[in-house]
Amino acid sequence: MDIVMIKCPNCGASVERREGEYFLKCPYCGMEVCFDDIKEEAQIGVLQNKLSAFEQNDIQVEAARQRLKRYCRMRNVSFGVMCLMTIVGFDLVSLAGDDDPQTGLGVLITLGAWGIAFFAPLLLAIIYPGYNIMTGTTDKHKTVKMWLKLSLVTVGLIIVSLIVAFIIEEIISAAAK
Ligand SMILES: [Zn+2]
Repeated sequence: MDIVMIKCPNCGASVERREGEYFLKCPYCGMEVCFDDIKEEAQIGVLQNKLSAFEQNDIQVEAARQRLKRYCRMRNVSFGVMCLMTIVGFDLVSLAGDDDPQTGLGVLITLGAWGIAFFAPLLLAIIYPGYNIMTGTTDKHKTVKMWLKLSLVTVGLIIVSLIVAFIIEEIISAAAK
């Protein structure tokens, strides 16, 4: 605790003043002194604490926003890769002739897509348990709920990818005739 020497406003004697002390009785003349500046300093201290807490909160909000951005990027990339692999894998298999090594490659790519479809929602739900995939915001969703939503979206994306792959196959087959 800081102690500063001040002059008594009544008798001019040097008096000890402790930090956080608002009132003092001068030991020499008995004058009661009120330290307004200490009051102000104390208030400034309180305000500074509030401000730093506010700034801390701001930093945390910004960090959460950055995490969410990274999450959305990971989600989009993994879903995009999965869709592409599903389409390519399906078309490689369906357009391959008998005993074509292309079939094996198509199966491998399709299996890779299913691997992503299986593990990506689980992984994302574990890494980012509080995020809502639909709104891209944080809320009180539990990991399991999150995983279910991601899995539903994954299934939907696979169905759409297969439809797209089928259309592409039809177009290529028609063009080949
Ligand atoms: Zn005095």
